[in-house]
Parts: sequence; C-alpha cells; structure tokens
Amino acid sequence: PDISSKPPLTLRLCQPRGFCAGVDRAIQIVVLALKKYGAPVYVRHEIVHNRYVVEGLQNLGAVFIEELDEIPDEHHDCPVVFSAHGVPKSVPADAQARNLFYLDATCPLVSKVHKQAMRHQRLGRHILLIGHAGHPEVIGTMGQLPEGAVTLIETEADVAAFQPQDPEALGFVTQTTLSVEDTAGLIRALQARFPAIMAPSAESICYATTNRQEAVKETAAGADLFLVVGAPNSSNSKRLVEVAERAGAKMSLLVQRASEIPWDDIGQISTLGLSAGASAPEIIVDEIIDAFRARFDVTVDLAVTATETENFPVMSALRDVELTAS
Ligand code: SF4
Repeated sequence: PDISSKPPLTLRLCQPRGFCAGVDRAIQIVVLALKKYGAPVYVRHEIVHNRYVVEGLQNLGAVFIEELDEIPDEHHDCPVVFSAHGVPKSVPADAQARNLFYLDATCPLVSKVHKQAMRHQRLGRHILLIGHAGHPEVIGTMGQLPEGAVTLIETEADVAAFQPQDPEALGFVTQTTLSVEDTAGLIRALQARFPAIMAPSAESICYATTNRQEAVKETAAGADLFLVVGAPNSSNSKRLVEVAERAGAKMSLLVQRASEIPWDDIGQISTLGLSAGASAPEIIVDEIIDAFRARFDVTVDLAVTATETENFPVMSALRDVELTAS
C-alpha cells in the first residue's frame, strides 16, 4: 500500500503506563512457582485482572480457581498462589486448616493498607474504607478485620448516611486503585462531617495508580480519541478512562485487544492518546499501535510524566529459582 495515502495520526503515548511493580511480582511468583514445583500451580482468583496474562500462565500449567475447595485432594501438595489484590484473613487460615502450601502474591502496597486498617482498629477506631463494593481488594481489606469493624464508603451519599457509634473514634483507608480526584472529594466530605476522623499514616492510593492517572491527565486534553488497554474488571484501568474523559478527550474507551477497537465509531481522527492499566502487558500496547499503523501514518509522541523505579522482590522461598525468559 502507498504509505502517503494514509491519513496522519499523532499518537500521544503515556509513560508511565502498563505493568506496575505489584503485578510484575505476582506474575513472577506464579512463573517461579511453576518452575520450582512443577505444574499444576493453583492460583486463587485471576492473579491480575488481565485475560492475556491469565491465559499465558494457564499455558504454563497454572490452574485458576475461585475458592480453595476446588483443589482436588490428590493435588493438596501443589502450591496455591493468592492474587495481587489481597485476600481476607480467612483464606490463609483456611489454607492452613487444609494443610495447603500457599504463596501470597498480595502486592506489598495492598498489605500496607491492610496494616493501616489494623492500626486504626488497634487504636480503637471504627474504619471507613473508601472503595468499590465487590472488588477483590475491598473484600480482602474488609476481611482483615472482624465483621462490622469496617464500613465501605463508595459515594458522598454513603458519607451522609453513615451513623458512627462514636464520631471521635474513626479512621479511614482507601482502595489502592481509585480515582485520585474522586477520592480527595470523598475524604473532604468525610472530614467535613467527622472532623476527628484520622487519616492513614501514608496515602493508600498507590504510586502506579497516581502516576498513570497523572500521565493520562497530561495527554488527554484535545485528543480525538483516548484508548486505555485494560480489562473491564480492572479498577485502575476504568479510572484511566474516566480521567481521560474529564481531561478533555473527545472519546475515551477501554479495550482489551486491538480486535476490540471500534473502527467504524472512531471515524476521522488526528490525535490519539494511549495508555494501559497496571495489569495490561506491553505486548498489547504494541498490538494496538500496529493496528493504527496499518490505517494511519502514525507519529508517536512519547509523553513522559514520571520515572518509576519501584521493584518488589518475590518471597524468599522462590529466590533460589532462576528466572529464565518466558
Ligand atoms: Fe500494587 Fe498499585 Fe500495582 Fe495494585 S496497582 S498491584 S497496589 S502497585
């Protein structure tokens, strides 16, 4: 094809984007466990919210389950990995009771939120958790504490409706992957209603969420289209779509693969913004760029808003296994 016949397209590529240190560590844990112990390695819940990653690990011999009782008796000596989102305390307790060998791939930044929630409780505070009902991280954080110790806050209406036993003894934490802006609003509403409420000792929204949202905010204004690579059940990816919309992208969409790009709806565009959620592999970003290159004369404009150096080592049980290219 005649390249000059393709319409020009400026592709603003966000950096940072894609995999965070917690996702990288969780995937490594499954790969290393397969290498050290052999297949099958059980994984409770999608290790990270990405089908491509899950299928890749399945091909290596990982078996995904939702609950521990799905592990057949004859496989009770196979390791089971808990996902990056964290698990309620009842899960490792249940694993112990069943005599299972487990590897906890909970992101250290999620574990930090768990510790902050437990600290509030130790200091006699009722805990308000800002987050999305049903998300595995929220289930995991609520499950660090006894029933009734944590109240979930999703909206300003929840703030208004909450009736504490003692308004002087409250503390909050948040999910790690929320909208920075919406969360700041909810915290302001909580502080206005309960001036004595105690903040966690450090920010609960993680560096990866903050950096990816910031990068999208910087690049989305004026874009004809903004694409976020990510899964529909990925909280941080969905937030990036919202951030792009608010920052002024004319259209903003979540796509899992290049095959989901709705070419007919897109029509004539000259500026495209592109980012990827923390659980989306770079290979899919490349796939999307290639799909646009096939239709447009693409100029990539890399928009760097932060440099990330975070790296979370795997647990010592797996450090003796050499990681080969996979
Ligand atoms: Fe950890 Fe943040 Fe990545 Fe979640 S998004 S795994 S909290 S670094």
